[in-house]
Amino acid sequence: MDCIFCKIANKEIKSELVHETDELFVIRDIDPQAPTHLLIIPKKHFRDLTECKETDLLGNMLITAATLAEKEGIAKSGFRTVVNTNEDGGQTVFHLHMHVLGGRPQTGRMG
Ligand code: AMP
Ligand code: ZN
Repeated sequence: MDCIFCKIANKEIKSELVHETDELFVIRDIDPQAPTHLLIIPKKHFRDLTECKETDLLGNMLITAATLAEKEGIAKSGFRTVVNTNEDGGQTVFHLHMHVLGGRPQTGRMG
């Protein structure tokens, strides 16, 4: 499948790997929108959040976000977790992923 995150998962494309388990991996966003900008990505391909019904995986993505935010030193100052879905959600890569953004105030209550 011609999916950039599947290619990163298969190591066909290089990335800055931060963390990896059997079910997910975490990389730094190539176009960071904050001093810390991580992407938490399931190894299994789901097109978007509506396609994924795996409660353990979804829970682990959130727990990973919090754990890595602590490790990156942005937990106390604060961080934002975002999952964009489809056009209005601003999704550009159609393989489920969660953004973790921190290290500067996130402007606006959303977006
Ligand atoms: P979204 O707009 O929510 O679909 O987010 C996709 C994110 O993937 C964007 O923030 C991109 O900068 C990021 N991205 C795209 N290609 C790569 C890559 N090869 N390595 C790391 N991040 C990437
Ligand atoms: Zn994929």
